[in-house]
Amino acid sequence: MEAKLFGKTLTELQELVVELGLPKFTARQIADWLYKKNISSIDEMTNLSKKAREVLNEQFELGLIAPTKVQESIDGTKKYLFQTVQHKFVETAMIPERDRRTVCVSSQVGCKMGCLFCFTAKQGFQGQLTAGEIVNQIKSIVEADEVSNIVYMGMGEPFDNLDEVLKSIEILTSEWGFAMSPRRITVSTIGIIPGMLTFLENSEAHLAVSLHTPFNEERRKLMPVEVAYPIEDVVAEIKRWDFGRQRRVSFEYIVFEGLNDSQEHVKELANLLSGLKCRINLIRFHPVPGTPLKSPDDATIQRFKDELNKKGILTTIRASRGQDIYAACGLLSTKELVKN
Ligand code: SF4
Repeated sequence: MEAKLFGKTLTELQELVVELGLPKFTARQIADWLYKKNISSIDEMTNLSKKAREVLNEQFELGLIAPTKVQESIDGTKKYLFQTVQHKFVETAMIPERDRRTVCVSSQVGCKMGCLFCFTAKQGFQGQLTAGEIVNQIKSIVEADEVSNIVYMGMGEPFDNLDEVLKSIEILTSEWGFAMSPRRITVSTIGIIPGMLTFLENSEAHLAVSLHTPFNEERRKLMPVEVAYPIEDVVAEIKRWDFGRQRRVSFEYIVFEGLNDSQEHVKELANLLSGLKCRINLIRFHPVPGTPLKSPDDATIQRFKDELNKKGILTTIRASRGQDIYAACGLLSTKELVKN
């Protein structure tokens, strides 16, 4: 299999052109074709010399991968299925809103983290995605030129694939790449502290943390990661960073019926997050086959939201999108993968 150009940083392209005996400025030209323009072959890089294109063609392919399948929800949300180099599948969701097009990307094939409420967890871990495969999920969809926001909330735990995730953010935010503002990118984690700290130091993108309950024992049952990285340690680290100006931190909170929506939860959340400028996004749980967890009704979620707001925690309810095609962000379905 030939190596891929798409997914390389400018530094990597500079090293590559030197190795191939091409002029150094060729690296920027290649980056331009890869990330700012729409081409489907190396031959279309028309400002490169014929020799440069020949040399590149001998050893490389462009590396863009078209989706193998797309499904559209009645609300306009789309779910794309991409094949990886290891012949596995990952899902990408495109969520249209009035003035935005948000793409929810996967960072791994499957996941190791074993969260009780998650479809992807049931698939187990099947492999890492490269930076190229992550960015391809943005570049190779029909809406590529309209994407306004990116969330790393699809399959996998981004900080369990830290190097490739950081590289993908570099490609998206560098002036030689997509030149996107990091303020339009949010990376969501279940709270892997070492990876989270490296991310906070090396990127300016927003952070989202899956919280789901402030109580350790309860959280351990929902999310095994709590054993290694208790939520109070995660929040203590976050409080050391400067959030609330340009960079935001938010907490994702899936509401399960009768499990994490009591007065005690409100009180403990207020304690845990005191002094931190942040937001909680409440997400209604949608039942996953094989789990005992249940979906709450609208009134319960609304009451929980009002109580948190009364405690001074900015809280919103995230609308469920793409429900009919199982594109609920962060809970992407493995149904398609089983069928394929
Ligand atoms: S919720 Fe996220 S971290 Fe947990 S198993 Fe699912 S994909 Fe992995």
